[in-house]
Amino acid sequence: MFERIREKLEILADAAKYDVSCSSSGSNRKNHNKGIGDAEGTGICHTYTEDGRCVSLLKILLTNHCIYDCAFCVSRRSNDIKRAAFTVDEVVELTMNFYRRNYIEGLFLSSGIFKDGDYTMERLLRIVKKLRVDEKFNGYIHLKTIPGASPELLHEAGLYADRMSINLEMPTEVGLKLLAPEKSHEDVKKPLDQIQKSIVQYKDEKALIKSTPKFVPAGQSTQMVIGATPESDKRSCIPLMLSTKIFL
Ligand code: SF4
Repeated sequence: MFERIREKLEILADAAKYDVSCSSSGSNRKNHNKGIGDAEGTGICHTYTEDGRCVSLLKILLTNHCIYDCAFCVSRRSNDIKRAAFTVDEVVELTMNFYRRNYIEGLFLSSGIFKDGDYTMERLLRIVKKLRVDEKFNGYIHLKTIPGASPELLHEAGLYADRMSINLEMPTEVGLKLLAPEKSHEDVKKPLDQIQKSIVQYKDEKALIKSTPKFVPAGQSTQMVIGATPESDKRSCIPLMLSTKIFL
């Protein structure tokens, strides 16, 4: 059992390392000389909270199975790689165990798409809800949202996550159609807009009614692939705080 979880962790933490929304991704220094440390090690990364603190996160995918075939992504369905998926309970237990051992201060959770947006988003929601409600976990949670998931699921997830994000992927629709033909900017713009409006609404309500719950208090982010097509990020249709994947 433990070996199986370890194998899943190796596969799904490795697959998550390509997401650069943490501040420690991107180094390739290996431990060649049996010394201490390994900057390429995956599974734990860092990010900044709402009040500017740097915290360490367990960074994993729920699954690297995916029905989409985005050319820039290691989890694309046509890629011949080892696949794995955690259960909802496995992610909750891993997070709590790592937190209790003081390895991490939070969770960064993303996922490939199992069979559709709602099916996958519903599992991500169950994880964050279980952590917050059953485990009373108050650590930081960054949740990636799934393209095509319904507004109701996104809204409920926003009540448990500290930060949410959904990737714009490419600066223009033309570039997106070239490398990720199954995606559209509309599918990303709608949830970005929905979350943004809810953040503002909940903040305004909280100013009047103290008991209003928090909604995505650390804000939302998105990211784009730059360099895989000739387009520039200056032409992006959405002016937002962006983290950027750079392929040179
Ligand atoms: S939908 Fe996401 S996980 Fe799936 S292939 Fe595209 S970028 Fe990768």
